[in-house]
Order: sequence, then C-alpha cells, then structure tokens
Amino acid sequence: MDRHFPTICVVLTILLVMAVMPAAYAVSDINDTVEITFPVAGPNRYSDDYQQIRGGGSRRHQATDIYGVKGQAIHAAASGRVCMAPGINEPMPAYGYIIRICTGNVVYGYHHLNNDSPGTDDGAGGYRNAYAPGIQVGATVREGQLIGYMGDSGNAEDTPVHLHFSIFDQDLVDPEIAESPWRQHYLNPYNSLVAAERAGRVPSSTSGALKTGASGSSVADWQADLNTAIDAGLATDGAFGPATEAATREFQQQEGLTVDGIVGPASRAAMERRLDELGQEPSNKPPGSSSSTGFPGRALRLEDPMLQGQDVRAWQQRMAERGWRGADGAPLAVDGFFGPDSQRAARLFQEEKGLTVDGIVGPATWAEAFS
Ligand SMILES: [Zn+2]
Repeated sequence: MDRHFPTICVVLTILLVMAVMPAAYAVSDINDTVEITFPVAGPNRYSDDYQQIRGGGSRRHQATDIYGVKGQAIHAAASGRVCMAPGINEPMPAYGYIIRICTGNVVYGYHHLNNDSPGTDDGAGGYRNAYAPGIQVGATVREGQLIGYMGDSGNAEDTPVHLHFSIFDQDLVDPEIAESPWRQHYLNPYNSLVAAERAGRVPSSTSGALKTGASGSSVADWQADLNTAIDAGLATDGAFGPATEAATREFQQQEGLTVDGIVGPASRAAMERRLDELGQEPSNKPPGSSSSTGFPGRALRLEDPMLQGQDVRAWQQRMAERGWRGADGAPLAVDGFFGPDSQRAARLFQEEKGLTVDGIVGPATWAEAFS
C-alpha cells in the first residue's frame, strides 16, 4: 500500500492542476490571441494603441480604439451575458454608455456608445441610441449579435467617434502588467482583432442590402412589395429564404438589372418606380390609416429603430382595451411605437393563448388579438 503512495500523489497533483486550469482558453501574455468576432460592422480603422499613455501618465490605454462613424453598428465579439449597461431608465453616468459582456472569467468591454440624437452632437440621444433593443443587464447575447452603436459618450466627447474595446481576463497574469500604471488582467485586443478580420469573422453591415439569411421588417416590406409588383405570392414573414431570393431574381430580370438575388439600391429604386406605375406606395413607407382590423401585412416586432405606424397603434389599442399592461403596471401605451413593453405584452399574450411565444405579432397573434 505504502509503495503506491508517491504514484497516487503524482496523479492527484495532475488532477488538481487540470481542475484549476481555465476551461475556455488560457492566456499568459498580454499579446496572446483569442478567437473573437470583429466587433464593428463596416469601414473602420484601428492600430495597436494598447501601450499608449493616458491620464497624464497615470495609466496605460490597455484596449484598442476602433474608429468609425456615429451610429455605426457594434456587435458582440463573444457570447455571454450583459453584466453592465448603465443609463437605462436612469440618467447616463458621466463615464457614458458602456456595455460589458461577461463570460466565465472574461469580460468584454465596449465603451463610448452613442449618446446623441441622430445627426446631432446634442448628448440627448438616450439609451435607445446607444444600445440595441433587448440589451440590458442579464440579457444573453451570442457572438456576432448587434449590441449597440458607436458614439462619443463619456470622456470621448472631444475625440473622434470610436469604440474603446477591451478584454479583461481574470486568468491573465503577465508580469508586465502586474504593477502600476498597468491595471492587471487586461489583454491587448489588437492581435485578436487582426486575427478576426483575417479569418473573416466580421459582422455584415446592417445597413443597406438584403439577401438570403436576412430577417426583419425590412424583409417583410420587400416581400410585400414583390407580391404587389410581380404577384410573387410570398409569405410576408420577414425571413429572406429561397422563395424570396427567387422572386427577387425574377424582378431583377424583368427590370434588366444584375440578377443576383440581392436587394441593393438599384433594386430598391426599380421597385419604387414599378410600384409608382401601379399607383402603390412602397411598404417601407409608414403604413397609412388601415381602418380594418385585418393583418396589416407586416409582422410587428421589436427592432431598431422601433417599428412605428397605425398598425402598431391599432394593435396596442386593442391590447390595452383587453386589459394588457406595460412593465410598469400602467395600461399598455398606445403610442404607435413597437417597443419593449409591446414585445413583452405580445409574449405574455402568446403564452396565454398557447401560440408560439416569440414576441412577434404575426398573422396568428394578430388574429387572436382581434378575435
Ligand atoms: Zn480607448
């Protein structure tokens, strides 16, 4: 028995070492590369500015600044849970709008999100111009998901618009950052950003073209337009699938455009002309006064910017009449904007009625509300 003891000790030591090793990845050097998705969609520029001296020499930068334009889309570099998103239903703190996404011992930081009204530098944009819909403390986000918009809040008001992107890893213990002016555990994101771009882990720009895989009200609008223009017979479900692509190609062919199944500016302009000839308005114009209670033809869902229109108002009115309330306990606001309260009411309603619970007011949910 005793002669086995050293062997047992070795085995136990190995097991113990394995147990304390971080599960995800182990970084030991501030310049190590971790696998992330590039957090900014569209044109941008950045450099290795981790070592730059800030605060009059009191601290180092320890992040990467990614420069772009105000309102540019910011996407999650990695999946996790939102552990910081200040300024929702409270004033914006002096340090600005920030998102932190926590996963294990790693925290991804996104600083200086937009605090201005569109097209201004008024500092009065509120959190809806900073955070994507659904972003709040506790929300789960997946890698590549839209989380917010680039801006200049906090101590970036007098600098060019940029995202200050940081990666904090509790397991990182590089001797170089063990002492002041360094703050411990901050990885240099630069190499990981370069690697993400080289590997093509880059979010697609959310503005402009629609193609297979896209979803949302802009797709539903396009489907409705195709139905009007070429009698495509598509479901206006907001999901750009093979049928929508085929109909788009057919329309492009009829119009003498490049036939690629992608809805860019040329296809949109052609659609506007075609609908004009037919005496119709494109569906992306705010819906007019739909007096009937039939399904309006577009799914109502939480988007950014929020869906707005008489159809939203009609649904809210109906829900309020039926006693549905917002998160604050007051009757659901009938304001024509499909916001978080509307989404919440839709979900609870769907749950009660045994419908698919997705918070989206499609034909079935609409019909049930007006039944
Ligand atoms: Zn910075």
